[in-house]
Amino acid sequence: MLDVEVRELMQAFVLSDYQVQEVYSRFCAEIAKGLKKSTHVQANTKCFPTYVQDLPTGDEMGKYLALDLGGTNFRVLLVSLKGHHDATVESQIYAVPKDLMVGPGVELFDHIAECLARFVEKHDMRNSHLPLGFTFSFPCEQIGLKEAILVRWTKGFGCPGVEGEDVGRLLHEAIQRRGDVEIAVVAILNDTTGTLMSCAHRNADCRVGVIVGTGCNACYVEDVANVDLLHPDFKRTQRQVLVNAEWGAFGESGQLDFVRTEYDREVDDTSINKSEQLFEKMTSGMYLGRLVRLVLIRAIQRKVLFKLSNRREHFATAMQKNVDVFETRYISEIESDSFPEFPKTRSIITELFGLEKASVEDCQKIRYICECVSKRAASLVGIGVSGLINRISNRRIVVGMDGSVYRYHPKFDAYMRNTMHKLVKSDKEFDIMLSEDGSGRGAALVAAVASKTI
Ligand code: BGC
Ligand code: MG
Repeated sequence: MLDVEVRELMQAFVLSDYQVQEVYSRFCAEIAKGLKKSTHVQANTKCFPTYVQDLPTGDEMGKYLALDLGGTNFRVLLVSLKGHHDATVESQIYAVPKDLMVGPGVELFDHIAECLARFVEKHDMRNSHLPLGFTFSFPCEQIGLKEAILVRWTKGFGCPGVEGEDVGRLLHEAIQRRGDVEIAVVAILNDTTGTLMSCAHRNADCRVGVIVGTGCNACYVEDVANVDLLHPDFKRTQRQVLVNAEWGAFGESGQLDFVRTEYDREVDDTSINKSEQLFEKMTSGMYLGRLVRLVLIRAIQRKVLFKLSNRREHFATAMQKNVDVFETRYISEIESDSFPEFPKTRSIITELFGLEKASVEDCQKIRYICECVSKRAASLVGIGVSGLINRISNRRIVVGMDGSVYRYHPKFDAYMRNTMHKLVKSDKEFDIMLSEDGSGRGAALVAAVASKTI
């Protein structure tokens, strides 16, 4: 049995049914605001039209290059679409050194172009003129399929000289500066768009794409009539368009303050983008470990954890070392651990605190703390997904998902569905599918679908 102290400590993370309903209503109102011209400026969720209108049929063919920037790694990919809903992907991961993430934008784009050049060289494709799709997973205002103005950096990136600029142009210029590869950037897309496209490639009912990884966001299929920001020419010829909700920014007008905890405020205060991306800071991999870390510090100080140890002071200090000592992947490991042995939990405790034989009670408490933080994250994502599903007229809707948190957490999917069952309209049927390489395959599909219509 868990003792009452740890339950009390975590009470602030437990969302009541009333709170779930209230966040849901506020979220839906914010999406409506983002779409409407007269309210768009004040809206947190910008609901940017992506200029991607056709979902893939599965018949797409051809070879494409893709770049994927926006999570923990940078990747270059070669995607072969083979028709019959089939595709193969070859890819290479390149590290993005920490100083490049916050250094001058030109250097970041030079690095990207260099990795691209190395990749094409290795695959003997220097002069193959392959079309390239650039998955750039930050909030961008798209002017067209291949023009995307970065609105703001998120997720620990902060290179000066890029906000307000067209990232398609910056990439193109970096490629030109090298002069050793010939590649045409034909599309810029968000990772959520890639996820939606890659899932729709396999399942024709897919209408929503969600990422719960380093960051958190969603994209969905909207009627053009509801998208005020779309160019009128586009509206005349198309019925629907993919909209990048940028829901990570939800809460910036105070809508989440009634559920945010002191821990959420501290995570925000110590981030490099204070007061921004507040929904993201409660749901994504960059922040969930930081939240658990703060709770652990508090639990140790209040003698809720390691009650009998005379080294508590030392344990608290170990946690204070740096904001990322408690990695988000530990949450997944702890929640999938076996009871009552807790082998993974114990090895994490040893690693963090140098404590060899943690008690079963302490392991249980740490697991409960992780559960409360991840369950709240999953509920919030479930709220957002329900809000989007309920906007779409189709009766059957499949949600494509990706991102390290969703992928590796043992119960995120179940927690999410639980909330969705409370909120999705009763005349609808939904399912969730895991995306296979949305950033790569999705980028190729956007490039392919785009070249069909040009
Ligand atoms: C960005 C989104 C992106 C999400 C997931 C957020 O920080 O604003 O554009 O889709 O992370 O990568
Ligand atoms: Mg990614």
